[in-house]
Amino acid sequence: MLTSEMRAAIPLIERLEKEGHEAVFVGGAVRDAVLGLSVHDIDIATSALPEQVMALFPKCIPTGLQHGTVTVVQEGVTYEVTTYRTESEYEQFRKPSSVVYVLQLDEDLLRRDFTMNAMAIRQSGNVYDPYDGLSDLRELRLRCVGKASERLQEDALRMLRAIRFLGTYGLRPVPSLWRGLKAYKPLLRHIAMERVHAELDKMLSGDAPDRALAWLGASGLWADFKEPVPPELLARMQESTKLGSYEMAALGLLEHTDERWSAILLSLQSAEKDAQDLLMSLRFPNKRMALIMSILQLHTEMAARLNTDDESGIRAAWLASVIRFGEKAAMHWLHVVQALKPRAGQVSEAIANRLFATLEEMPVKSLKQLAIGGNELQQALSRKAGPWMKEMLNRLLIAVASGDVANEKDKLIERSKLWNEEGT
Ligand code: ATP
Ligand code: MG
Repeated sequence: MLTSEMRAAIPLIERLEKEGHEAVFVGGAVRDAVLGLSVHDIDIATSALPEQVMALFPKCIPTGLQHGTVTVVQEGVTYEVTTYRTESEYEQFRKPSSVVYVLQLDEDLLRRDFTMNAMAIRQSGNVYDPYDGLSDLRELRLRCVGKASERLQEDALRMLRAIRFLGTYGLRPVPSLWRGLKAYKPLLRHIAMERVHAELDKMLSGDAPDRALAWLGASGLWADFKEPVPPELLARMQESTKLGSYEMAALGLLEHTDERWSAILLSLQSAEKDAQDLLMSLRFPNKRMALIMSILQLHTEMAARLNTDDESGIRAAWLASVIRFGEKAAMHWLHVVQALKPRAGQVSEAIANRLFATLEEMPVKSLKQLAIGGNELQQALSRKAGPWMKEMLNRLLIAVASGDVANEKDKLIERSKLWNEEGT
């Protein structure tokens, strides 16, 4: 059952065992190895105390000493090594701040959320599975370790983790877990929006984001976030994210997580303000928020044109949009509307191909690439600096982008003089 990544970590486990400690693979890597999926981040649990781990390995980072975690670096790979522990007291339905070390692996596995996450693999490759995670996985069941009602109340984030696992791995919740999700979802109010965001991002970037969204809708979890989802958007989410929805199924075609977020907001026909409020409440970093908002705004600009068969109008709107929102947002928007076609996007294959081609052919896409700058323009026209400069530069940029004027300084000056004289 050992993956090649796990085999590479065996010297680390052997070193701990040589000193008389126990050490095993645990967590998501074990779950994914059992499922035959590729594993990332390898977590190791050990009976050794953090100081003992640090004494054995020269390259260590004390990443989470308060939780008993030391990151050990071996051959450039990092391993999280965590001392067997239980969690003492849960505060306010969140993870506890202090931990108690224990000597038995069973006790460590008992604190874990779901049976499939409470398995261990020894260096021999044997799976240690005291809570029957394997048979739950085989039957595609998601089950808490112990009583769902207690485990969800201890740490409400587990509810969102449950939704993520149901979606990503195509599982069904056992009845007690499903009842627990319905009963305790108001406790999500205690979970910081940053953590909600991190879980939503993971569920959307995984396989089958539509399935995760369907579980989110069916459980009603997103009505209970600490900061509420704008009401109109919430109502549409409940309505439109059911399994089998055409737009939601298309999400899996998109590679980029922010394209998936944009596609959801677009197909829900979210008002711009609602989209912005949602992203703000989820503490999206500014850059990601700006990108998603640009994609939505670009859609608004283009959608009006795309309803017509005015080809040159579509092209002009496209050139202006690429310049205004940037090439990156424009490419992302094209991916999104192509995935969503034909319902949300009104963009046929033929139009999309033409827009792609136009984008490729544009000789310039931003002011940086224009062969003339503000100062030169000002000197050439002998005019005082003012808002006219930006307008004129943008106009020149569009003229060059559309192939109307060559991107050469004297040609640009010539054209700007003409516009200047005409007073247009
Ligand atoms: P991923 O594939 O996202 O890494 P994961 O299950 O490995 O999924 P991690 O956050 O890396 O998630 O956690 C590692 C392990 O720690 C889990 O498999 C689980 O055993 C335990 N764990 C994580 N979060 C919780 C929690 N909130 N409650 C109980 N156990 C948890
Ligand atoms: Mg993990």
